[in-house]
Amino acid sequence: SAGKSASQQEVIKLGADVTFPPFEMMKDGKVTGFDIDLIKAIAAQENLKIADPIQTMDFQGLIPAIQTGTIDVAVAGMTITSAREQQVNFSKPYYHSGLSILVKNDSTIKGLADLKGKTVAVKLGTTADIMLSKDQGIKIKRFNNIDDAYNELQNGGAQAVVFDNPVNLNYINTGHSNVKVVGSLLTGEDYGIAVTKQNSQLLQKINDGLDKLIANGQYEKIYRDYFKS
Ligand code: GLN
Repeated sequence: SAGKSASQQEVIKLGADVTFPPFEMMKDGKVTGFDIDLIKAIAAQENLKIADPIQTMDFQGLIPAIQTGTIDVAVAGMTITSAREQQVNFSKPYYHSGLSILVKNDSTIKGLADLKGKTVAVKLGTTADIMLSKDQGIKIKRFNNIDDAYNELQNGGAQAVVFDNPVNLNYINTGHSNVKVVGSLLTGEDYGIAVTKQNSQLLQKINDGLDKLIANGQYEKIYRDYFKS
């Protein structure tokens, strides 16, 4: 559970999955991204101190780390789902997203129906993995790091990647013009900040901070730093 520093400032142990750009990534040896700036602004607003260092781990490890108390809070572009709500508390939604299909530019795949009989690369334990695993006709290759899934598409080991659309678009826009997103979004999903169920006061502070950043324009400013539109 969260401790107090000498100044009585509550210290929170933060975990992140840094293979989710532009929400979480490593840059110049530092954890950075939209979610990181957002949680730092929330902490400043609510007089919370984020423990140094931010603990980086595979997406799949974040919820167990919250449950065992290794971390108090996780930011990971984590989709709010009822199954996960059994295990952790979620803040109010802070980003609306959805899954999309990424293929090579010359692919004949145009939508979900075309994935039948194909091999699709996903990140382990994510909503894409959960959704596609229900579909018997699709062969799934699972990776801890989304870059390995994208590489599998690039080297022909998979015919598509299904993942969160903003991250797929970020991949295209960071020097990979040989791939494209096809079809409509497969889902609508909301990201929430995951918080230990042991500390409902902390959840309240995070929600309060988020409300204030949205009201005072700081959320918008951070948004524009990472998403041009
Ligand atoms: N939004 C997806 C999920 O919650 C993926 C998150 C991630 O890979 N960090 O499952």
